[in-house]
Amino acid sequence: MGIKRVGVVGCGLMGSGISQVCARSGYRVVVSEINDELLNKGLASISSFLTRNVKKGRVSQEEKEATLARIKGTTNTKDFTDCDLIIEAAVENLDVKKKIFAELDKICPRHSILATNTSCLSIIDMAKVTTRPEKVLGLHFFNPVPSMRLLEIVKTIATSDETLEIAKEFGKSIGKTTIVAPDTPGFIVNRLLMPFMLGACRMLEAGLATKEDIDTGVRLGLGHPMGPLALADLIGMDTNLFIANSIYEETKDPSCAPPVILKKMVADGRLGRKTGKGFYEYK
Ligand code: NAD
Repeated sequence: MGIKRVGVVGCGLMGSGISQVCARSGYRVVVSEINDELLNKGLASISSFLTRNVKKGRVSQEEKEATLARIKGTTNTKDFTDCDLIIEAAVENLDVKKKIFAELDKICPRHSILATNTSCLSIIDMAKVTTRPEKVLGLHFFNPVPSMRLLEIVKTIATSDETLEIAKEFGKSIGKTTIVAPDTPGFIVNRLLMPFMLGACRMLEAGLATKEDIDTGVRLGLGHPMGPLALADLIGMDTNLFIANSIYEETKDPSCAPPVILKKMVADGRLGRKTGKGFYEYK
């Protein structure tokens, strides 16, 4: 089965990026939102991202127009009826996602693959509300979607080999390198990142080093593009806390237990870049 038309549920940060990357790769895309205001905001963010790239000479004006022409926005889930692959990128809440999967299962053709971009929720729980668990899997993109080259394909115990192969081909077709990850909290990348990032928080909390020295040490000593505390600011403290809690609840791995400093920062609204203040301040 070849994928020709892609559906994306949610046109927020990730959904807009996924829609854009798929459309740039030649797929026809239908992207949904809960109301017109959020839909227009999401579509406008795609347009302005492409405009900035035209100015930088990375995208031609023709490419920009062709990409936008391939994206159709909707607030009606019925518009997914002719999609071969639907990628859910709505809020990180299992009940919301289960409701979306149950609805997609009713609306979409039998051959359609249903994917979720969840960061750490159990994908088999979403698959079990459908009548096609063998066609459900995770497609975990990274932020910002257009520039991050990795796509984690998350196989549940029910995902078929055929579905996995189609997902690998799809990932390749949109210019991503794919890895296959297990359906466990954090998959591969966040499962490795969290103990490392939380360790940096604990080192700072214990007064063992300054935030600047921790980040400089990791950048120059390990060759990472940014230090773990700057990365925590970029991801957002609320998201870090949610992912750490999810992994800890499932695994009881003490290295993933959220440090007090992280909980306090979330309580204080110091979420990182998105609120202008986290470990660092942003203008
Ligand atoms: P976001 O809040 O920016 O976007 C989510 C959007 O989904 C919102 O605009 C919301 O209105 C919409 N939505 C909610 N319910 C919907 C429904 N029933 N139908 C259509 N739209 C609906 O969040 P985000 O950062 O884009 O995250 C989306 C998903 O991607 C989450 O599961 C998150 O864990 C995952 N994710 C996020 C990142 C990241 O760095 N932000 C990275 C990887 C994965």
